[in-house]
Amino acid sequence: MAEPKENLQMEKIVSLCKRRGFVFQSSEIYGGLNGFWDYGPLGAELKRNVKELWWHAMTRQRDDVAGLEATIVMSPKIWEASGHVATFSDPMCDCLLTKKRFRADQIEPQSGIVYHYEKAIDLSSFDDFISEFPESVRPAVLEDLKRFWSDSTIDVQTEIDRIIRLHLGQDQSPTAVVNSFRHASVPTEFESYSVLLPVGKPPESARKIAVQFYQQKGFQKPILIGERTERIENSTRYNPENGSLLTEPRPFNLMFKTYVGPTATEADVAYLRPETAQAIFAQFKNVLETSRQKVPFGIAQVGKAFRNEVTPRNFTFRSREFEQMELEFFIKPDEVIEAIHGSVATVSETGHPGEPQPNWGWQAWHQYWVEERVRFYEGIGLSRETLGFHIQTKEELAHYARACTDILFKFPFSKKDAAGNVTGDELEGIAARSDFDLSQHQRFSGKPMGVFDDELRAAWAKLPKEKSDVLWKRYYDNRKNYLTKSAKPDETPEQISQQATEDANGLAKGQYIPHVIEPSAGVDRLILALIANAYTETTKTDDKGKSETIYTMKFHPRVAPIKAGVLPLLKNKPELVKKAMQVRELLRPWMNVFYDEGGSIGKRYARQDEAGTPFCVTIDFDTLGEKPELLDTVTIRYRDDGKQERMKISELLDFLLSKVR
Ligand code: ATP
Repeated sequence: MAEPKENLQMEKIVSLCKRRGFVFQSSEIYGGLNGFWDYGPLGAELKRNVKELWWHAMTRQRDDVAGLEATIVMSPKIWEASGHVATFSDPMCDCLLTKKRFRADQIEPQSGIVYHYEKAIDLSSFDDFISEFPESVRPAVLEDLKRFWSDSTIDVQTEIDRIIRLHLGQDQSPTAVVNSFRHASVPTEFESYSVLLPVGKPPESARKIAVQFYQQKGFQKPILIGERTERIENSTRYNPENGSLLTEPRPFNLMFKTYVGPTATEADVAYLRPETAQAIFAQFKNVLETSRQKVPFGIAQVGKAFRNEVTPRNFTFRSREFEQMELEFFIKPDEVIEAIHGSVATVSETGHPGEPQPNWGWQAWHQYWVEERVRFYEGIGLSRETLGFHIQTKEELAHYARACTDILFKFPFSKKDAAGNVTGDELEGIAARSDFDLSQHQRFSGKPMGVFDDELRAAWAKLPKEKSDVLWKRYYDNRKNYLTKSAKPDETPEQISQQATEDANGLAKGQYIPHVIEPSAGVDRLILALIANAYTETTKTDDKGKSETIYTMKFHPRVAPIKAGVLPLLKNKPELVKKAMQVRELLRPWMNVFYDEGGSIGKRYARQDEAGTPFCVTIDFDTLGEKPELLDTVTIRYRDDGKQERMKISELLDFLLSKVR
């Protein structure tokens, strides 16, 4: 569990986000909508900067990546081909008491004593019967009734007779009292229930919770029947917040459903995309043909994705509507590389493998993209120390994936490993997905997704037979493995072998289905990481001993929402204001600047520090030439150390551009 101190840190961050207009709860005036967040003025700028930097790094700065902007709603067949309709689900369970929903795989294992209850009956039906007894003995009557209902071996007639005579102190049971018992119905709730309590907690706590559970079933005065206890270890069947039993885990499809067209029948069902990647695969051929790219090359897309997450949590980290920045980088299968280049390059398992080479196989490309992405994060202020890595194990990998490395960020809510180190939570996954995606779309759409490669055809013709046999067989085995694992129910092993043979024969004709490396990042998680990383608190004490907490958002200038604050020293001096406006106009076409003339200069610096503005430009009397040698110079103040220096206005733009780009 996250430690309280870390939760406090998150609380402060959430509060600053709201106070300064980074992030607001969606639909806040109506009580909010769980899992949905809006970005305020500063957040919107921050987000835009991040997306543009990603787009710039991934497409414009490279020759081998083209962009795409596809729709959110697409043919539902896409999600059948991708497997999302059949398998995009999380195991989910609900608290039987509060109905709160949990992802079963995220429940912390708990140990303690389980209090089981077989059933409950509603005592309110016996109000008339109990009222036949004097007030003083009613609790005792109640206890006897409870005992009696809990023990099915007790004979009703004899026991009721005994209870009546005992508590009324009479030899014979009065007929009226006996009848009032007989006339009462015995509403029974047969659903069993249980509560987990930590060892040492009084049983009364469990009973209280169980009574609430049966009250929800409509019982006014439930009596718990058949209590028994059991010691359990590491169970995930109980709500960690209140001990109540949870429903059995069941799969919950995370895709938001909608209808296309006015009739809204089952035939019109469509989905809001749960990832941006699939549009890239579906448009692969169109982009290939129009962009004049050749494998290896990539298609990049930034856009909204929607997942009806079971338990949205950790602020924007797990939202229901979010944005992704995804690249599908298509590469030649290793057999093709080997046929053309004789062998596949071996790369060291760590570090950046350098500039892409024609003989790179999937491993080199995978490592290349992991390192490229880390460099991107470093370039916007997330140092390697703030990041972590999770290399998926064979068991974690999807059957078609060769490797997947998650880049993690150490969020304030991230947990610690056994050695006490913060591990981090996923910012981005970089997966080597083989040729699974294009193959799926080829099979489901009936449209060919393969490419033709002249170089391969020429090389294959020159291969010694032993070599081409080996490569053919390896390609055949991979195809057969994929086709077998993804077979439709009516496909026979013979058909699968035949298809794999055709695919492998395609190599000699220069044909293959590209493999893909997929760096897939979440915009919102990155924004949260940048905010958490930037958040800095310092306490300043003045001469009178009064202390004050100062908040500074130390964003890297590249992502900072406002690049420069432009501040005239005094607002009631028109010459200063005029000059400041000129400086603002000078910078404005190039970057987001904020003109501020309200309050003392110290207050204005503090406001910009809180917004994360890396530079403040102050226009004072020296700017106007009070000291002639300082004419047309400004003071530039640095957010992180408060240092100030004088700079010519003519040099200001170049200086700022060198920092913010
Ligand atoms: P997780 O295991 O955390 O649910 P995932 O492995 O399902 O994530 P992917 O399907 O690989 O995530 O999505 C790629 C990226 O999209 C993630 O690395 C993350 O940054 C982002 N992302 C996924 N789900 C969410 C979400 N619910 N809210 C915000 N960002 C998300």
